Amino acid sequence: MIKISTISEVLSENEVKLLKKESYTGHEQILFCNDPKSNLKAIIAVHNTKLGPGLGGCRMWNYKNQNEALIDVLRLSRGMTYKASITGLNLGGGKAVIIGDSKTEKTPEMMESFGEFVEYVAGKYITAEDVGMSPNDMKIIRRKTSHVVGTPKDMGGSGDPSIVTAYGVYMGIKGAAKFRWGSDQLANKKVFVQGIGKVGGYLLEYLKKEGCEITINDIDKEKMSNIAQKSNVKIISTDEMFKQKTDIYAPCALGATLNDKNIENLSCEIIAGAANNQLETEGVHDIQLKKKGILYAPDFLINAGGLINVYSELKNWDQEKTLKKTENIYDTTISILSRSKKEDISTHKAALSIAKERLRN
Ligand code: NAD
Repeated sequence: MIKISTISEVLSENEVKLLKKESYTGHEQILFCNDPKSNLKAIIAVHNTKLGPGLGGCRMWNYKNQNEALIDVLRLSRGMTYKASITGLNLGGGKAVIIGDSKTEKTPEMMESFGEFVEYVAGKYITAEDVGMSPNDMKIIRRKTSHVVGTPKDMGGSGDPSIVTAYGVYMGIKGAAKFRWGSDQLANKKVFVQGIGKVGGYLLEYLKKEGCEITINDIDKEKMSNIAQKSNVKIISTDEMFKQKTDIYAPCALGATLNDKNIENLSCEIIAGAANNQLETEGVHDIQLKKKGILYAPDFLINAGGLINVYSELKNWDQEKTLKKTENIYDTTISILSRSKKEDISTHKAALSIAKERLRN
């Protein structure tokens, strides 16, 4: 049973201040979900539903506190609005976060309880997978709400979206390479993949086939050494990873790795990866990258494959149509990078302005 609380019951003074900050305003709805019985602490944020229902994955992460989770969900849901818009999908922006360790604290009861809250938002938000969540979790959430996509294929769902996300990122990398080097062939290019989870793992396969020289880093050391043993990739330490000279940096872990410290150290020509919200501060770090001559393929543009995949579930597209739509990321990347060059603006700003144009019409 859902209990509705007042703002002062769920938010600290700092969090109320945060909601008034310019970069976090403009959300249509923010729902704090607390269920002591199942230990669920989650936040659902619906940013904009002008183009359609807010569709975006649910992330389960061991946030330090609610404040950190709130910042994440506000930034992620806003990013989804622009991702759907620039990709030409009739979807809005929404996202959810569950506070907790997905490996040790997740239970079926918690997933069901989350499903009840999704149902409460009545279709303004459609949930799916993100970091820490799987198609099987979507299956459990489905017991309580129909507003869920990315359920397993044997249930008629589109399954794990990460495969298509990785394909889209690969298209974005190739588009950026074509723009930068005049060729999209990646043979012998040095690529650093940070985060070898679901998307990073699939991306490695595409890069290996192209003959790239790959280095990887992940906080999960066991996973990292298993992958390095099985395939021809080198491990790089966390201390060294941003200091190495590489052609392409593909962030596929969490966001905000493009910050003052890392940008100062970075020695690469292209940044193109799956992680959401790679820029710590929009309007600051995108400009720093431009000044440094590093070509940044905007995250919300090139990681849209997963969104296209779950959209295909709603629209009954077949796989061929889904992959064709994902391949368009190659051309869109080139056109955004060209616009940024022509207008002498950051690539992030160029992408954002195109996404905003569609929302204005
Ligand atoms: P995942 O949880 O499967 O993988 C993330 C990996 O990053 C894990 O192996 C984790 O150990 C590692 N990691 C976390 N913090 C790290 C750090 N500081 N340094 C190095 N490694 C670190 O998640 P995923 O589904 O592969 O998603 C990866 C990123 O792509 C996320 O930012 C996600 O929001 C974004 N994304 C995913 C999809 C999708 O379809 N899964 C779609 C769009 C965007």
